[in-house]
Amino acid sequence: MIVTTPNVHLLKKIDYPTLGLFTLITASTAIALPTFAYFYDYAWIDWAMFVGLYIFTGLGITVGYHRLIAHRSFNCPDWVKRIFLIAGGMALQNSALKWAAAHIRHHARCDQEEDPYNATKGFWYSHCGWLFIKDPYHDEKYASRLKHDPVVLWQHKYYVPIVLTGLAIPFLVGYFHNGWTGGASCFLLAGLGRTFFVLNSTFCINSVCHLWGDQPHGSQNSSRDSWWVSFLTFGEGYHNYHHMYQSDYRNGPRWYNFDPSKWLIWSLSKVGLAYDLRRQSPPHELRTR
Ligand SMILES: [Zn+2]
Ligand SMILES: [Zn+2]
Repeated sequence: MIVTTPNVHLLKKIDYPTLGLFTLITASTAIALPTFAYFYDYAWIDWAMFVGLYIFTGLGITVGYHRLIAHRSFNCPDWVKRIFLIAGGMALQNSALKWAAAHIRHHARCDQEEDPYNATKGFWYSHCGWLFIKDPYHDEKYASRLKHDPVVLWQHKYYVPIVLTGLAIPFLVGYFHNGWTGGASCFLLAGLGRTFFVLNSTFCINSVCHLWGDQPHGSQNSSRDSWWVSFLTFGEGYHNYHHMYQSDYRNGPRWYNFDPSKWLIWSLSKVGLAYDLRRQSPPHELRTR
């Protein structure tokens, strides 16, 4: 006789491969990184690779996945788009196709049941809990526009090799610097640790920036501005502005806002590698604040 209880239904909803992968990353970052530091310590090259790959993969998400693919806030040549999508893929946040489809739904259904990282369900759900539950509201319509982009489809096809390349590069750099110990050392800090920290800084946009902070541009949804999240995420913490003007290539529109993603897009436009930069907010919105 089969007895079904509510707990059995909950167990069926869990996405075990994703839960297993993220548990492994979190546990090994918490245990292996400090253990290695205690016995061997990290070399300067490990820290340099950590910072370099944090910036490269972080901007891949903010400029590539978010502002270019999900919001089309600017345009660029295909080879530049390819570099951004390789960088974003190395951050282990799924392919740009899946990431952007979920993000478009987040904006369309913010704070509602279909919002993939619905912050009304609390901090941990919007931070990472949503990843571990099979999505019952998956809707192909949010991906339909993205499927017409050959570069997006190319990145979706090669997503796994791109992730593995992002882990192999720090190992190889460390190996050529100091053999097997150097390889392990650089892999732990700039591969595993960097992945963990970029994941969590991105997660903060969905959790922190929908729970704590100011709402200077409107309170139609739970989005908030957080300068310290901007510091960790290359400008994405100005999330209240972003939700009000989602096609704007800037998230921090004022000159003094810390928004390196905006500065990168603007700089690329000055050398012809980005064009059609979109600005949305009316001028009085910025003058009066
Ligand atoms: Zn949001
Ligand atoms: Zn967005």
